[in-house]
Amino acid sequence: MKITFGKALDIFNYPFFKLLSTAHEVHVQNFDEQSVQISDILSVKTGGCSEDCAYCAQSVRNETKIPKQPMLDPETVLEVARRAKERGASRFCMSASGRCMTSEAEFEKICAMVTSVKALGLETCVTLGFLTEPQAAKLKKSGLDYYNHNVDTSPEFYSHIVSTRTIDDRIRTIEMIQEAGINVCSGGIVGMGETNEDRIKMLVLLANLEIPPRCVPINKLVKIPGTRVDDSSPIDDFDFVRMIALARILMPKSYVKIAAGRNTLSESTQALCIFAGTNALFSSEKLLTVDNIKDNADRKLFDKLNLRIENPQL
Ligand code: SF4
Repeated sequence: MKITFGKALDIFNYPFFKLLSTAHEVHVQNFDEQSVQISDILSVKTGGCSEDCAYCAQSVRNETKIPKQPMLDPETVLEVARRAKERGASRFCMSASGRCMTSEAEFEKICAMVTSVKALGLETCVTLGFLTEPQAAKLKKSGLDYYNHNVDTSPEFYSHIVSTRTIDDRIRTIEMIQEAGINVCSGGIVGMGETNEDRIKMLVLLANLEIPPRCVPINKLVKIPGTRVDDSSPIDDFDFVRMIALARILMPKSYVKIAAGRNTLSESTQALCIFAGTNALFSSEKLLTVDNIKDNADRKLFDKLNLRIENPQL
């Protein structure tokens, strides 16, 4: 049954502890609430992107001037993935900047990375922008488990953030990836000037997909000087927790991940998010171009909360 915006708004506005206990109940029914899935992410090609995402340091349309990094060799990527596995990651995400893969040689390199990372016993995820059907089929054959393709924000706010594509373009690609048998990782970014209504609409959009994303990353904007949203107001921590809880309730079978910006949340706020349904985190010290949590800080938090790292190999 489709979820209406009105119903989602009602849930978002539950008394805070009722919202948390409702979300936790859904969480316990669908996942082991004592375990958290850990991913690492690596930018395998950085900068020089022709898209105009307002938040991104890698867009040539923003004044960020980060150094361009050509595509890494599969051997270099494999070494980083090996270290990520040693630190407890069960999934390794590889991100290449750009609207889509235009170079056949680069796409072949990505497929080689996927195959070799998969052979380490890690789940694989890539984000490459738009894909063609043959590319999706080739990635699946290479061993790809997840494809990240965020919707970023609500349909209504989308044009404030990106003008070089539409949210419908994103949805079409998500559906094509699912048809190829690849899990979708799709979420968005909060704190770019959108309202709580926009945040709720984004979650309703994802929940109402024919197949909701298997993983829903929620990013708290990391303001990068030179981007077009570097002066936007941050999201209130309690609204962030409410969003996590709503995501858990609307998408009970999906992993709900806190992605970028977690290093600006206190341990207590992260604990509330985990109680409300967060069960996936990034442990890499860098999230593409921005800093993330130091690995030891995570271990200490997991110990305090008696959490285990999920290992699908066990
Ligand atoms: S988010 Fe991706 S598509 Fe958008 S500018 Fe950055 S690298 Fe390009």
